[in-house]
Amino acid sequence: MKRILLYFTIGIALTSFMQNFARKASAAQTQDDPRVARVLDILRSSVPAITEEQIRITEIPAPPFQEATRAAYMKNLLSAAGLHVSIDATGNVIGEFPGATSDIVMITAHMDTVFPAGTDVHVKREGGRLLAPGISDNGTGLAAIVALAKAFRDAKIKTNKKILFVADVGEEGEGNLRGIRALVDTYKKNLKYVIALDGSATEYVTTAALASRRVEVSITGPGGHSWSDFGIPNPIHALGRGIARFVVAHVPEFPRTSFNIGEIEGGTSVNSIPMSARMKVDLRSESETELSKLEGLLRDAMRAGIDEEMSAARERGIAGNASLLELKITALGVRPSGDLPENSPLLAALLAADNRLGNRSRRERSSTDANIPLSVGIAAISLGAGGRSGGAHTLEEWFDPAGRELGLQRVALTTLTVAGLEP
Ligand SMILES: [Zn+2]
Repeated sequence: MKRILLYFTIGIALTSFMQNFARKASAAQTQDDPRVARVLDILRSSVPAITEEQIRITEIPAPPFQEATRAAYMKNLLSAAGLHVSIDATGNVIGEFPGATSDIVMITAHMDTVFPAGTDVHVKREGGRLLAPGISDNGTGLAAIVALAKAFRDAKIKTNKKILFVADVGEEGEGNLRGIRALVDTYKKNLKYVIALDGSATEYVTTAALASRRVEVSITGPGGHSWSDFGIPNPIHALGRGIARFVVAHVPEFPRTSFNIGEIEGGTSVNSIPMSARMKVDLRSESETELSKLEGLLRDAMRAGIDEEMSAARERGIAGNASLLELKITALGVRPSGDLPENSPLLAALLAADNRLGNRSRRERSSTDANIPLSVGIAAISLGAGGRSGGAHTLEEWFDPAGRELGLQRVALTTLTVAGLEP
């Protein structure tokens, strides 16, 4: 028995040694190919042009659910880069770089921003910095996919797997990852690897998906006059009572779990008892179990807040329908969790790229387009596409393109290693 176990252990060690060896060899083979050196050169020398394109992309507004104008522009850019481009029914722009087999590597960058229509997206320059909402998230990723497609064409790259360069819709907030959901659904049979480019930076790689749930809590009641109807239950008061109960919830540090009430609205005037109150809540956790627990706590807290407000009304002598409030909790979005396996060739390719470029990166768990492929067992990572940035999701968002070639080269090496070069 012991001996069998020993053989078995040696067997596993040997297999994983051989796998590692094979992966290192394939990464080295990719890195040593003169065409790849050419890709890295092209990316380095095109930095100023890439940054100018990023500005043009950013200045086309792309509020949630209104990505179509930016999509049409991205379609032109990817066509000009030599790809065969189409827009699917969901609104994703898909540019195809042919491969020797039907296997697919997908590089995505989301087109949507968190900013509503009418937001000033004009890019201002301050020193080396560019300032505009959405300039980095995801102007950086979008400019990168165009640059990579061009560089692969100009360096006469031929790959084993087909590469799809995709500008997708609905990554942020209530978009609920609808773009990548549709893409994974369409291509899952041949889809081997997904690399989601999101924002800038090179010091991390997202290899695990953070589960999240977003819900809208809505409370409705009879409404009335602030003076003459005083005493009837008030939806805003009830919401307040529920919030006070919920936000003291204890969430674990491990697995890390968080909550945020991000939007609240209700009522029509200061001297009216409102007929409704609503809020939007974001719940996240490294564990689906904790997430479900947290959602339960939210429901209980809101239920208790409403009961308290209604019993206060009854104590003031209000009865019948006038004493009733109604609670509705609707799901706005669910993002599943998932993890990239430790022995995934995609992780090996990324680490080899980091090695070659002298970059160090930490692994992160986050909520990105990679959630969807990871949740169905397709290898996926999310990366920044280079440069530095700050103020994401605020009107003060900025991007500094200095050194962005590192991010572009890192994505190029990783992609070409998993796509496999053909002579
Ligand atoms: Zn983003």
